[in-house]
Order: sequence, then C-alpha cells, then structure tokens
Amino acid sequence: MYTSIDSCHDLDENDDVPFLHPSQPPCSQGHRSSFNLETHDGGSICLHCFSNLISNPLSPTLHVSYALSQLSRSLSHSSFLQSLFTFHPHFLVSPLLSALSCFDDEPIAVQVVDLVRILSHSAPNDSVSHEFLDRVSALISSAHLAWSSRQLHMVYIYI
Ligand SMILES: [Zn+2]
Repeated sequence: MYTSIDSCHDLDENDDVPFLHPSQPPCSQGHRSSFNLETHDGGSICLHCFSNLISNPLSPTLHVSYALSQLSRSLSHSSFLQSLFTFHPHFLVSPLLSALSCFDDEPIAVQVVDLVRILSHSAPNDSVSHEFLDRVSALISSAHLAWSSRQLHMVYIYI
C-alpha cells in the first residue's frame, strides 16, 4: 500500500516539473521565455504577443477570436493554469478588459467574458477576481462607449 502511494507521488512530481521550471525558448518576437507558456499539445502561447494582439483595435477579429479560443483550450488543462497563476497571475486582466473596448464584436465579447469567468474561478485565491472587479468597476464608471459598457456589466455579473 505504501508503495502505491509512493508511486502516485512520483507521478505527480513528474507532472509538476514542466511548469515549475519553464524551458520554453523566447517567442518569435523576442519576448522573454518566462512569458512563453507551454500548452498541452506541445505548442506555446506568448502572453505578451497574446496581449498585444487582443488589445490592438487594428487586429483582425478572426485572429483575435482564434487567439482567445486557443487560450480557452489551454486553460482547460491544469498544467497551463498552474503555470499561468504561478508566474503571471494578473497579466491577462488588463488585455482581456481592453479587448472588450477595442472590438465591437459580440462573439469576441462572449469569448472574453468566458475567459474572465474561467480565470476568476480557477485562480488559487481571490486576488484575480478582485482585480477584475476593481478594474471593471472603474471602467464602467468612466466608459464612454455604450457597447463596451454593456459588455463590462456582463463581466461584472459573471465574476
Ligand atoms: Zn511574444
């Protein structure tokens, strides 16, 4: 019985290694490797490139939607989630909320709201959801665009 517990523990340790010691190279844009998180399928997501893409109003919505769906898929894997929350727990708060203001596009807004919900509920403590709430509250009180304001209220409800 002790042996079986011990081997389970060994398996867990092996699972932990990749995200506690990131070995990803820098992304193609030269951002630091610590922001280039490995995904479950052997690929990687550079948080800086992701952030730049989704918070740039000139980005094609097709690309933004694809990037959001890739992140959503990665967040369904615990190793990626743990890596994100270990190294960059608050990094995505600002770009995700920026995306709501940048794109007058309901499918993208739905994707963003879904990601905010996943991140808030998956975080190891309340600090991420508190930051979302603080920023959303500030944005709602200062928002000029009616559309993004509606989306922000949606985020507020889901956090
Ligand atoms: Zn990058």
